[in-house]
Amino acid sequence: MKKGLLIVMSGPSGVGKGTVRNKFMNDPELNLAFSISMTSRSRREKETEGVDYYFVTRERFEEAIKNGELLEWTEFVGNYYGTPLAYVEKLRNEGKNVLLEIEVEGAKNVKEKCPDAIMIFITPPSMEELERRIRGRRTEPEEIVQQRLAKAAKEMQMISQYKYVVCNDDADEAAEIISVIIRHNMKRN
Ligand code: 5GP
Repeated sequence: MKKGLLIVMSGPSGVGKGTVRNKFMNDPELNLAFSISMTSRSRREKETEGVDYYFVTRERFEEAIKNGELLEWTEFVGNYYGTPLAYVEKLRNEGKNVLLEIEVEGAKNVKEKCPDAIMIFITPPSMEELERRIRGRRTEPEEIVQQRLAKAAKEMQMISQYKYVVCNDDADEAAEIISVIIRHNMKRN
């Protein structure tokens, strides 16, 4: 069986990656599986353990780093985030195309380790619109909002490491474009 694709999708937090992803993720033709990350961040109300993330303590995360359990990891706004390696490899070996939704530092490390990874960046239509979306979530204190905005500006500067840049002006359209990108790469695999 052919090994599945490794697809990396990044974009500033608040850009709507989850919304876009939900629109193409279950298309059976794309044969996708989502890589569930490990994080030391606390769970938001709408999130589910083992679906959105594996929520762990900082100690458990540091142990995972030490044991080489992670394909990549980073510290983002005071919390650890990382991709469990064994899970990704298992899915790819089963022929699944695995989608990683990770920030730019982690994406850079994945690209170095796996040059064949398909790199997709989602941009907001403008930074003003991004701020509106982050504030619309109303889940975080002002200090964290400011940190996320500053981080977003830096992330936008790393666009050049991505082969594909998709603007999330309209989520349906962005999802359709990403489907086309994945289909194209499946044909080449
Ligand atoms: P959030 O706290 O909003 O869920 O995630 C913050 C940022 O961390 C987002 O840009 C998200 O894509 C990224 N992220 C989530 N999981 C991982 C991961 O496993 N590795 C890396 N490097 N970034 C991640």
